[in-house]
Amino acid sequence: MGKKKTRFETEVIHSGYQPDEHQDSLVPPLYQTSTFTFGSAEQGEKRFAGQEEGFIYSRLGNPTVKILEDRIAVLEQGEAGLAFSSGMAAVSAVLVALTKSGDHILCSQGVYGCTFGLLELLKEKYAINHDFSLMDSMEAIEQEILPNTACIYIETPINPTMKLVDLEMVASVANKKGIPVVIDNTFCSPYLQTPLTLGCDVVIHSATKYICGHGDVIAGLVVGKKDFIRQVSRTTQKDIGGIISPFDAWLLLRGLKTLPVRLDRHCENALKLFNFMKRHPKIDKVYFPGDPEHPDYSIAAKQMKQPGGLISFTIKGTKETAQQFMDQLQLIKIAVSLGDAETLIQHPATMTHAVVPEEERRKMGITNTLLRLSVGLEAWEDIQEDLEQALEKI
Ligand SMILES: *Cc1c(COP(=O)(O)O)cnc(C)c1O
Repeated sequence: MGKKKTRFETEVIHSGYQPDEHQDSLVPPLYQTSTFTFGSAEQGEKRFAGQEEGFIYSRLGNPTVKILEDRIAVLEQGEAGLAFSSGMAAVSAVLVALTKSGDHILCSQGVYGCTFGLLELLKEKYAINHDFSLMDSMEAIEQEILPNTACIYIETPINPTMKLVDLEMVASVANKKGIPVVIDNTFCSPYLQTPLTLGCDVVIHSATKYICGHGDVIAGLVVGKKDFIRQVSRTTQKDIGGIISPFDAWLLLRGLKTLPVRLDRHCENALKLFNFMKRHPKIDKVYFPGDPEHPDYSIAAKQMKQPGGLISFTIKGTKETAQQFMDQLQLIKIAVSLGDAETLIQHPATMTHAVVPEEERRKMGITNTLLRLSVGLEAWEDIQEDLEQALEKI
């Protein structure tokens, strides 16, 4: 008898875990152990040879981590999952697995600052080149794919300008050419967007953000086809070693249970604050996928369940005006990261994207007055009042 297929809100709580396999513990136990004992020398030999199922050493696999990996695979509707010590450990393990010296990566115009740094490193050390593309038409992508393009790498919504990439469109071009499409789904989480169902091949998360949701873990997750996940697990994960600790996996399993409940509130608050910001005379532009005037509004409506909990905006004035505004905030905390219960604000040009050269930043639309707000779970009225009082003072 097959297990009854249940809905997302149920899967975040139950999938990948069977209490009767773990002493009937309601909550997944924390297997805080570095290694596992073998009953005999022969059993050890068989486990290493892959002839017998079972755990060996926690860098190669751990029961608590395995529950998390199985759960994220279900949530992203993929075949298998893999957990990492950080989002960047996940990004680097995937990119190193998919490329070799002399290859090319086609990227969305605008990626996370450290992903940009990694792409530069791959270029300098291993001659793996990359180009940035607006990915706004099939013809453009077809032209930008080179004979040595090994993968397409996308963020959508793009951090921090909230431009969107039509995943179904990009995947249709890439699938024809047999090029894998990798997507960083951190800003959406699987609750708002499931790229594998749109034809993408690999999903990456900085689980540090919405998946954890409580600002107390740094971790990464990857979901894809079984063969690909096995390859990453046995090469770039095992031999480079960016694995998650069992305790962090346990915290993520706990955080995941409330993902839909939290995100509904993040999105609800963000929409209210967007409407306030859009009309404020001291705010210039507001970037939010839920804005009907957003150029990619139709893409958002097509591929995202809700527009998300992040809003970027520009303050009228200079870099100093933007910084003065941040310094006046009382409830809202100045911090990078996102997806926490606390509302956070950051200044991309001097913080998350400071490593990106100014010329590239301009192309990504990151000006000196741009700020990114990660809307938290506080009462929206309190967040709005804090923004209001700080705006009054500049
Ligand atoms: C934070 C973030 C990362 C990096 O994740 P870490 O967990 O900090 O290593 C990658 N991509 C996006 C979009 C992020 O927001």
